[in-house]
Amino acid sequence: MEDETILTGREAQRRIVDSAIFVSDRVRSTLGPLGMDKMLTDRLGNRTLTNDGASILKALPTTDPIALEMIGIAKAQEQKAFDGTTSVIIKSAEMLKNADLLIDENVHPTKITKGYREGMNIAVATAEAKAVEYDPYEAAKKVATTAMTGKTAGGYSELLADICARAANCSKPQNIKIVGLNGDLNDTELIDGVAVIKEPCLSGMPTKVEGSILLVDEELGPPMANMSLTDPSKIAEIAKVQEQYIKERIAYILELDVKAVFCQKGIDSRAQQAFRREGIMAFRNIKKGDIHRLATSTGASIVEDLADIREDDIGSGKVEFIENMSKSYTKVEGTVSGAASIILPCPTEQTLQEISRALEDAIGVAWIVANEPKLVTGAGTIQTQMYQAIVNSEPMKDSKAEAAKQAFAKSLLIIPKTLAESAGMDIMDSMHELLTGKDLGINALEGSVSSMSVVEPLEIVKSALQSATECVVGLLRTDEIVLSRPIQELFEDY
Ligand code: ADP
Ligand code: MG
Repeated sequence: MEDETILTGREAQRRIVDSAIFVSDRVRSTLGPLGMDKMLTDRLGNRTLTNDGASILKALPTTDPIALEMIGIAKAQEQKAFDGTTSVIIKSAEMLKNADLLIDENVHPTKITKGYREGMNIAVATAEAKAVEYDPYEAAKKVATTAMTGKTAGGYSELLADICARAANCSKPQNIKIVGLNGDLNDTELIDGVAVIKEPCLSGMPTKVEGSILLVDEELGPPMANMSLTDPSKIAEIAKVQEQYIKERIAYILELDVKAVFCQKGIDSRAQQAFRREGIMAFRNIKKGDIHRLATSTGASIVEDLADIREDDIGSGKVEFIENMSKSYTKVEGTVSGAASIILPCPTEQTLQEISRALEDAIGVAWIVANEPKLVTGAGTIQTQMYQAIVNSEPMKDSKAEAAKQAFAKSLLIIPKTLAESAGMDIMDSMHELLTGKDLGINALEGSVSSMSVVEPLEIVKSALQSATECVVGLLRTDEIVLSRPIQELFEDY
């Protein structure tokens, strides 16, 4: 225990604030459309440029418990809301910093908690009151556009936002697959179904069919037999039994008038030939994720034993093999829908990775609003509106809790402040203009304070605020930290 440091009381609280600010400083400059990129490098010399708060935080090699706590909120925000990770960190750190100033003035953490929770309730109510309900497609398209600003994908936001919005309106994010190809981004295409990177397992099979589709999870071939043969004349006999077995399995399939078979395992050459003879398109070694998406899209069940197959296990749709210079694939448009694929041609592998990541987030956000199409105005507008509502609300009886409520309101302004800062605007002038005006935001691209059309999903703004507040309140209750090594040393690697 020699190396151990125990921090208690005020010292512990100061350390919490220091760590939170340290984490926030790592991502602060990336906020907004003019946010800077960070270069992440590892010991193996790999490097990548990113603007994504969650990726930057995941890359921090820290063991500091407070920093990890903060990173935890960012991760939770990403999983729940797909966006707003940088904002949630910056806001939490600012709330802690302002709480620390109050503690310096002898306000007890329980009073701060009370004031912060009250401030949060007013802020959430304001967001709900200001939110505007849109048509689900329009809402999804708008937020997908916002989610892509500042990233490479932003350059194609008109095209990509439409695709995200259409995908999110027909499928859950888990069922949306992005298929990268080599080519021109302008040829990006949405398939209302599943694109599988496979070709029919034997040439001569049809390349386009429509009708019943079977999904199988069993090897289409003879059963594996573990025996040693001493009599060579038996080989022919065994081959015959095997052939009979395969014939039987295929007969089950033919009876159901199946037009395409997708098998998660292998397909024996005799079975392949039988399928070709019957004009069936067959595919082998289909990935688990794909077969599940195919099930969703076509309404089929994944059959584990062909002997037990029932008619309602069969799905239906159109299957087409698309030959492409860089990567051929098979397009399956099921009749049930519920799964989508995005064919994403990109000029380089690096662009593909960046755009896929941006698209995944944009799809997630689009999906959230497709289900709850309420939007608030972004670019610091909603935070300013929340600030004004709290400042103008009825004072709490308890003067210390009231001071905390006001500190909470002030903390929200860190978002417009940071946006103005990264846009190179004069912070004091812009904040003055913002706070004396009504419903204005930071127009980062033009460097002015104006009425903005950038939108953010109500759900995401609400959940970010709630998780930031709860994390801060939790940390404020902490009065003892046990560290095995001083934080400075933990962070020395930079
Ligand atoms: P986060 O990880 O928090 O989503 P971003 O870097 O994506 O961080 O920045 C999001 C912030 O940028 C939001 O507050 C959003 O309203 C704001 N924003 C997006 N587009 C613009 C714009 N054109 N002008 C000003 N602010 C914008
Ligand atoms: Mg974002």
